[in-house]
This record gives sequence, C-alpha cells and structure tokens, in this order.
Amino acid sequence: MNTLSSFAPVTCPVCNSLCSDPPLYSYSVSEAAAYFCPVSRNSDRHRRFKACIHKLWQGEDCTIRRCKECGFSFGYPFVGGDEEFYSILHEQKDYPSWRWDYDIAIREALTWFSGGNILEIGAGKGAFLTHLGKEWKCYAMEGSESTREPLEAAGIQVFRDFSEVALSEAGNFQVIALFQVLEHIAEFHAVLAQCYQLLCPDGRLFITVPDGDAMIRQTKITGCPDMPPNHINKWTPESLSRALRTAGFSPEKVIFEPASWQNFKTSLYLKVISDASKPRSLAAQVYRIPNKRLRAPLLASLGLPALLSMFPYLRQLGQGGTLAMVGVRS
Ligand SMILES: [Zn+2]
Repeated sequence: MNTLSSFAPVTCPVCNSLCSDPPLYSYSVSEAAAYFCPVSRNSDRHRRFKACIHKLWQGEDCTIRRCKECGFSFGYPFVGGDEEFYSILHEQKDYPSWRWDYDIAIREALTWFSGGNILEIGAGKGAFLTHLGKEWKCYAMEGSESTREPLEAAGIQVFRDFSEVALSEAGNFQVIALFQVLEHIAEFHAVLAQCYQLLCPDGRLFITVPDGDAMIRQTKITGCPDMPPNHINKWTPESLSRALRTAGFSPEKVIFEPASWQNFKTSLYLKVISDASKPRSLAAQVYRIPNKRLRAPLLASLGLPALLSMFPYLRQLGQGGTLAMVGVRS
C-alpha cells in the first residue's frame, strides 16, 4: 500500500531536479524480506531481513522514483543496504569467477598504461586483480572480513574503506575499478569524489553497473523485481555521465553488454522464480516437491511455458543487463 507521502515530490540525487511523477513501484518491508529470503526457505533469515530493512527504511515501504530530467531511478527512502543487510545477504553469495565487465576494463582502462597502481573497490575474492600481470601493483577496498584473507594471501593490499588510504596515496593510481558497486551506494557523490582524489591526471575510473532501463524492463517482462535496498540506484548512460562530470571526470561513451544466451536463460529463470512467488502457481507447487531429483527436471520443464508467456518480448530476453563507462580524470 502506498502512503500519501510516497507521492510527494522528491529531489533527484544526481541532477537535483524535482521528481513529481508517481512512483514506478512500491514495495513493503514484508515483500522485500520475502524477495531476499522467502519465509519457507529460512524463517530465521527472513525475520532478520525484515527487521533490518524496516530499520533502513524507517517505515513500512519504499518506492522507486524516476527522474525525467536525467533518467536516473532510485529507491525512496534513498538509503542503500548497510553492513548488517549485506552480511545477511552474503550468507548465500557466490562470487563470480570471470565476467564481461573485466574484459572491457582491460580494454578500456588498463591497456592505456604500461602498468602502475590499480585499486578495485568491492573486490570480492579478487577474481579480477589476481588475473593481472606483474606490471600492476594491486590494491583492493573490501569491507567484508571473509574476503580480506584471500585477497591479502594473494599479495593484494586491502583497505577497509577510504579512511584507511593514506593521504600520500592521492594522485598515485592509474586505474580505479568499480565493478557492479555504484548501484548499491546512496553516497555515490562522495565515492566518485574520493576516486578523483586518488587517481593521477589522465587516470581512468572504470565503472560497470546494471543498466537501469534493463532493470525496469526485466521487472516488466519477468515480474521479478529489482528490489531495494540492494540496488538503490538504477543508472542510465545520461545519469552516470552527469554524476561523473559533477565529480570532475570526463565521461567517455557508454558500452552496453551484448546480448547472450546466458542472459536469455536468466530471463527464463527469473520468470519461473517470479511465478513461484504466487502460492497457487504451478511453479510454486513444483518448488514444494522435496525430492530434488524429481523437482529439477520439472522446474526445467517450466521454462517452456515461461518462454511462451514472454513471447511478445522474445527479442529482449537475451539483451545485456550491464553498462560500462570510463571517467577520465582531468
Ligand atoms: Zn535527475
């Protein structure tokens, strides 16, 4: 249920325009907690999500607003997940091994230099940094204790946050990479400003984020929401360019992730998951089958009806969901 205050005009965090359109979506604390962990899967984890999200939102719901001026969409209340939220979320997180983002970073940022200092913010277990050659001295910023150890064991210096980076490091980095980070952070202006301080002149800030319009399209086609407070920001090329310019960077042209068979399969999967959230659906019945050997093929067979129901959007199902952009420090 929306409250009247949900519809009050709010200021766009990127361009400061007043956004007075009705929200795109509205989610209650219960819906968000059920999205991140259904009560049937783990009631204790569900309850902890609920308490944590309620505290973040200081109320019962969160709306998604869109700025007509710059295309940026954002959760309101404009607050991202805190340490507690991500510690609950990451109880079941798999870190990716290699991704499209890394190839583009090498091509668009690293090959501009013969080597130097590189900082990855939100480095996970170091899949990207550990791949780089000796010409790069690698630094990571990572708040999670469980990933600090493997990073340090790989010879990477780890900072917990910007306050741990010595003032003497200012201007010392050739490249800073933010892979799938900026969609989580409400304080993105401060993060971009700190990156500007750390980069050398002509240094390159490489950013990938989910394509905000693709996230909205995904919700429309599959019914599966892009739930706050995980993704508090939905970036578009225009809004990301503006945020980079505000921090002093020259943004380069956007690069979209190409369509792929993997994205196509993900769309089918999201549709089945979304159907399963409706208790009377066939998907929900199949999820209740305790025998995994029976359940798995039945779930796979739901892919075809899922595909048929999304048929009008067939050409969009495989589209890429990520955009990449470089900001050059002047
Ligand atoms: Zn705006």
